[in-house]
Amino acid sequence: MARVIRQLGNVKLSIAFAAIAASLIGTSAHGEKIALVGGTAIDPGTNKVIENAVVVINGDSTESVGTRGEKQVPPGARSIDCAGRFILPGYIDTHVHFFQSGDIFTRPDVVDLTSVRPYAEEHAWIERNMRDTFARYLRCGITSVVDVGGPMWNFRLRKLVKSVPNAPRIAVAGPLISSVARPQLVLNDDPPIVKIDTPEQGVLLVQKLAKRSPDYVKIWYVVSPDSPVEKFRPIVHAVIAESHARKLRVAVHATELEAARAAVEEGADLLVHSVNDKLVDEEFVRLLKERGTILTPTLVVFERYGRTFANKLELLPEEKAWGNPEVIASLDVTKLAPDKVPDRIKTAVANPEPVLAKIQQTYDVALKNLKTLQDAGITIATGTDAGNIGTIHGPSLFREFQLMKQAGLTPMEILKDTTANAAKTFGGETGAKIGAIAPGKLADLVVLNSNPLDDIAHASDIQSVFKNGVEIAPESLHVDAK
Ligand SMILES: [Zn+2]
Repeated sequence: MARVIRQLGNVKLSIAFAAIAASLIGTSAHGEKIALVGGTAIDPGTNKVIENAVVVINGDSTESVGTRGEKQVPPGARSIDCAGRFILPGYIDTHVHFFQSGDIFTRPDVVDLTSVRPYAEEHAWIERNMRDTFARYLRCGITSVVDVGGPMWNFRLRKLVKSVPNAPRIAVAGPLISSVARPQLVLNDDPPIVKIDTPEQGVLLVQKLAKRSPDYVKIWYVVSPDSPVEKFRPIVHAVIAESHARKLRVAVHATELEAARAAVEEGADLLVHSVNDKLVDEEFVRLLKERGTILTPTLVVFERYGRTFANKLELLPEEKAWGNPEVIASLDVTKLAPDKVPDRIKTAVANPEPVLAKIQQTYDVALKNLKTLQDAGITIATGTDAGNIGTIHGPSLFREFQLMKQAGLTPMEILKDTTANAAKTFGGETGAKIGAIAPGKLADLVVLNSNPLDDIAHASDIQSVFKNGVEIAPESLHVDAK
């Protein structure tokens, strides 16, 4: 960790030179042949570790991977010395929301601070800083992300990233098909969350979404005394049937065991949260296995709302260095004008113990469930829910890694969940070509200075990142917030 912190210090120093660096980098033109020589290539999907490797990148793809004895550096290739370094597939965060900034103003339906910053201004800030947000993902070695729900505006983002060089690949879902309404989040008649009351309404929304070719249809299966599991189930059934008929996959938010079970029985392709109310039973594990459902545990977000409100947010050094500084500054609730502080925050600051106890209770269940499902061979895909209050776009992934480690997962399992398994959630042609170091795969790579198999904390010790075969120096990626 000392090494990581030292490195972070350097990063801070180099921010000032970002503009200069940016003009010098980017010379590795598309179509170039590059050989990464002498490093350890780690392919978590196959558990393969090749020491003293030669990884040849040709254009946007990996051409070959082998030991130095087997593979020669091809003539004309630019050779990069990787001795002592570790080469992995780029990380994939399978659960983010770009319509949320991660700052304190981003969910007025949870804490209303619109008298400090109106929601329209919050959204304008997000739009203005989109390129900055994208670059921060790459800075963290995250070369692909899945946005599992937001306004129709999300489809514009998917288009935008194609013209932004320093951006991850993105897959997107449109508005969440929900059992509850969130009018506080509606701008320009483009709600991120749509309350659906009948199966027919659900089918109509799927038909409307299908025209935009979403990567997922998203269901927000929120259970409450007013909306028990069985009440919303006919809508879940109709939405999934209509989506599957149109060859669209369905992601479901369900944090209670019975809602998650119902969602999987109805055919959900992806559960975007861990079950956190009860320990999973054998029947549930068998069901996930039979159906081939993927599960994203999404652990970090559980602690971040409560810890932010209780003024107990403990961001990692990586988050402080690589997260957006304006977002991070907003999370200090002691800086809010006293007359503006919402009751929920007042109560949490005055009495943080119950808030912290609730987080611990949630983790006692969620971490145990993750270990059970991982051991049972369920496809687990790493995700953060970045964009929610306190969950920082980009580096919150490294807190997710810590929690997965705490659950008892090995570094190789965590890396597999973040690469090969996460690629399965991405889906489509692109999904088939990411998440691995192998011939024919897209050359999205992370080069580390220390071995992540010794300690998953080394996963943030990033030397360089390749996206589409183009090398990106991390220090060139600090786009200052406007
Ligand atoms: Zn989410």
